[in-house]
Amino acid sequence: MVVRPQPQWPKNSLLMQIAKFVCYLAAALAVSSCASDGNNGKTILAVSIEPQRQILEQIAGPDFDVVTVLGHGSDPETFDPSTSQRVALDDADIYFATNVLPFEMTLKESIGANTTFVPTTGNIELIYGNHGHSHGESDSHEHHHDMAVDPHYWSSIEGAENIARTMYKSLSEKYPEKKADFTERYDQLTDSLTKLREYIGQTLDKAPCRTFAVWHPSLSYFAREFGLEQLPLGVEGKDLSAKALAEAIDHAKADSVRVFFFQPGIDSRQAEVMSQGIGSRLVPVNLLEYDWQGQLKLISDEIARP
Ligand SMILES: [Zn+2]
Repeated sequence: MVVRPQPQWPKNSLLMQIAKFVCYLAAALAVSSCASDGNNGKTILAVSIEPQRQILEQIAGPDFDVVTVLGHGSDPETFDPSTSQRVALDDADIYFATNVLPFEMTLKESIGANTTFVPTTGNIELIYGNHGHSHGESDSHEHHHDMAVDPHYWSSIEGAENIARTMYKSLSEKYPEKKADFTERYDQLTDSLTKLREYIGQTLDKAPCRTFAVWHPSLSYFAREFGLEQLPLGVEGKDLSAKALAEAIDHAKADSVRVFFFQPGIDSRQAEVMSQGIGSRLVPVNLLEYDWQGQLKLISDEIARP
């Protein structure tokens, strides 16, 4: 067998230079298309819920685009992401998950290798055992949920501080060249959270009653943080019987409940009937709103109202 020598281009021939240039061009194009992704050159980050987006945008700054997985008006505890939502997540460098919502576990398994899954729980002490439980439910069907985690840690200052700290840490690790900017913005954010805590604390000092009612127990962490008593009166995904409704009203009256928070579109319309029966003020809230700080202020104002 005759081995033929491969034809060799003379060094630095014109053709060689063109070939080098083409390689360089291809590499440059590949890099720029990865970085821009049709997104004005911004790096994409993902979060599960809107309050996380509000926190992340403040720390990350203008070089990043933050996308939220949970659709507007969806219930985080039953949400099921579509295939296109799962695929879209692969464009993100980091996916910041609450780590307590069922849909995140599905996403964690299907996530692409280029996306880092980061839980934002930090070292918050999670609450177990009160979620899915209801004072209005006279049978014990709900009791198998009793040891489930209460996911709503984002509805508290302490929760927000843990979210912010975990985000700040992983952004600084992933993009060390921007660390100084992240630090400046993170410090501003923690200052504003301290002021919010002071505002809420001072407002609640004037509260005539430290017990409030909710349809769904979405304020357990807030109640723990500020020494309040949350009275959950509804059940998840179904309506109460007439007997259970009457029991819940009696319970709230005995606790001198004056204000009742409910989430329109997710909580049952029975909240209206119940609140009328109690003689309480029915206040719509949305704890999954981008302006979660405004919602917590509203809640404290309503509890403190004479
Ligand atoms: Zn819940």
